[in-house]
Amino acid sequence: MKPSIQSKLFLEMKDKTLLYNAQHYAFEYLDEVFDRNVFPTKEALLNLSNFDEELPESSTSSEAVLRQLNTYGKPATVATLGGRYFGFVTGSALPIGLAAKHLATYWDQAPAMHVLSPIGSKLESVVEKWLIDLFNLPTRTSAGFVSGTSSANLCGLAAARYRILKNQNWDVNKQGLMNAPKIRIVAGRHAHSTVLKAIGILGLGQDAIEWVDGDSQGRMKVDEIPDLDCGTIVILQAGNVNSGAFDDFDSICSKAQIAGAWVHIDGAFGLWAQAVSQLKHLTKGIEKANSWAVDGHKTLNTPYDCGIVMCEDSEAMTAALHMTGSYIIQSAERDGMFYTPEMSRRARIIELWATLKYLGKNGIDEMILNMHERAKQFATEIKLSQGFTIDNDIVFNQVIVRCESDAITEQVLKNVQELRECWAGGSVWFGNKVIRVSVCSWATTPEEITRSVKSFYKAIMMCQTKSNEF
Ligand SMILES: *Cc1c(COP(=O)(O)O)cnc(C)c1O
Repeated sequence: MKPSIQSKLFLEMKDKTLLYNAQHYAFEYLDEVFDRNVFPTKEALLNLSNFDEELPESSTSSEAVLRQLNTYGKPATVATLGGRYFGFVTGSALPIGLAAKHLATYWDQAPAMHVLSPIGSKLESVVEKWLIDLFNLPTRTSAGFVSGTSSANLCGLAAARYRILKNQNWDVNKQGLMNAPKIRIVAGRHAHSTVLKAIGILGLGQDAIEWVDGDSQGRMKVDEIPDLDCGTIVILQAGNVNSGAFDDFDSICSKAQIAGAWVHIDGAFGLWAQAVSQLKHLTKGIEKANSWAVDGHKTLNTPYDCGIVMCEDSEAMTAALHMTGSYIIQSAERDGMFYTPEMSRRARIIELWATLKYLGKNGIDEMILNMHERAKQFATEIKLSQGFTIDNDIVFNQVIVRCESDAITEQVLKNVQELRECWAGGSVWFGNKVIRVSVCSWATTPEEITRSVKSFYKAIMMCQTKSNEF
């Protein structure tokens, strides 16, 4: 008789060969990833067609499944873990984060409620306190552990929506938005698209936004901010995705406080400046806001995915995200689901806790300051190569690189990406095509920067050779 799936599963759990094999493959990956081509080769991409198959009728052996993944999946990964990935704003991961996540994989916890995962609940409570301390936020602040800043922005703005309407005796949960008092939104022209998405999802309407122009670095022009009132949400940014610039929180939050407006800060990667002694001048005044969104997976380098929403108005946040059910067991301990849109979610708190505990305040300071210094190094070195201009002040970890024309910039970017020595993405900055370099990995050394600048140099030389051919 054929063995049942169940008996095979028990056997595999007991035998562990499969799990050791996965470990072995993973360790091989770690041995290669810091030195390999950053983007997959053309061949690796072609080989992905190996996955184009119908769902099999019968069970496949675990070994075969894992082997297929390792053989064709591994080469098609992007080496975001390494030190020469400068695309988007993408963090690496610390060994302790990977290790904690690895251990937690086997625990397979769902920290929705304390009764579902006491360890998840405990670590969420502890990290909430740590983050309040690290970011210097009001002690009454609550934190929710979500998938990223997209979700954190949504939650922060949901809390804002709830509070502003509740203050006008309108319960948005019950009464919805039809006929509700109007909510004004003030945001900078450079607000991140996930903020706009959240405004859309929340039914506030992007047409309701009163846009404020940015200065040369993308910071909101403070004197162009309209009069605020208690029906307004002001959305600020810690870290512009192109320039890395920070809004003037101190001035704007003071204005908002006097008017009774709600301030939400999208600090996906930039809020961490507050944890670096030499950079905390950038985030001066953030404690005067009402809600904050930040990622663990970017600047802090926790494994993916890890986002955090924090809100000083805990009641508004839990009211906005609350759910009930006859089977829900509330306890005196923390029930994580009251602070997140999801009921079930993975226990990402485990890696976040481990990463914070491992680094400590000094380690966080040192690691993030290194990203800042490597960004400055990149700017300094690339300026020495003819044909490159830097378009921003390097206040944090972002560098905007431009060539003599849009066409050359685009070609250089394409060449850089094809060389695969490092990876950066494109953007548009004040109407010009630019290359955006984001230094976001603990693993970026001075040598890696020099190696990457050389690749940019090679890429621009390739353009010149090409144009000579015409
Ligand atoms: C990355 C980013 C986001 C979105 O965060 P995710 O973690 O990708 O969801 C929002 N705002 C800013 C400024 C960002 O850099």
